[in-house]
Amino acid sequence: MKFQCVDKCAQCCIKREYFPSKKFGKIGVLILPEEKGKIEELARINSIQIEIVPRIGVSEDGIHGPTKILAYQLMGIEDNGDTCPFLDTLSGKESPHGGFPCKIYEDRPSACIAYPLIESDPINLDSKCMFCKENGNTDENLDEEIESLLKIKEKMMTDAKYVWRYATGIAESDDRSIVKTGWILDQEI
Ligand code: SF4
Ligand code: SF4
Repeated sequence: MKFQCVDKCAQCCIKREYFPSKKFGKIGVLILPEEKGKIEELARINSIQIEIVPRIGVSEDGIHGPTKILAYQLMGIEDNGDTCPFLDTLSGKESPHGGFPCKIYEDRPSACIAYPLIESDPINLDSKCMFCKENGNTDENLDEEIESLLKIKEKMMTDAKYVWRYATGIAESDDRSIVKTGWILDQEI
């Protein structure tokens, strides 16, 4: 079955997850360094308040924090991290499949173009995507998503010795005592 968004769905623009674990807090939409300025400018043009924080950094020593940032993230507007600031939930307009539309759809980040793809070889869709929940995996009608995912993966490649992950501190109210804020050493490559 060909991939296509489920009627009226906008779940991936709304729901945010803890990743890689609760300690790191809820993540936002991945923003590549070269996309950050454009997204900030789009927010300014549309009079939308946004918050972009780091996501992944790298370094050659495991003590002083990252010296280079590989990715940022665009945080949700709700206290629990949900709902992208660019999602139009108020105007009554609809996306082509009847969901809430994206105010910057033509200029949306690579991560939004790649979704719901989370692996391209073999092709694998995020099991949390509504299409995947209703229809399972597919490898059809995903050319644009594959291209975008490959671009992101290429940008994430690094020879650096240490990888740091930024803990956002964003959580459901019951989890706030568990989550951290700031850089945490994720792994030694
Ligand atoms: S990609 Fe999946 S979760 Fe997102 S709008 Fe489409 S069907 Fe819904
Ligand atoms: S930028 Fe647009 S497509 Fe991406 S999460 Fe936000 S509303 Fe959805």
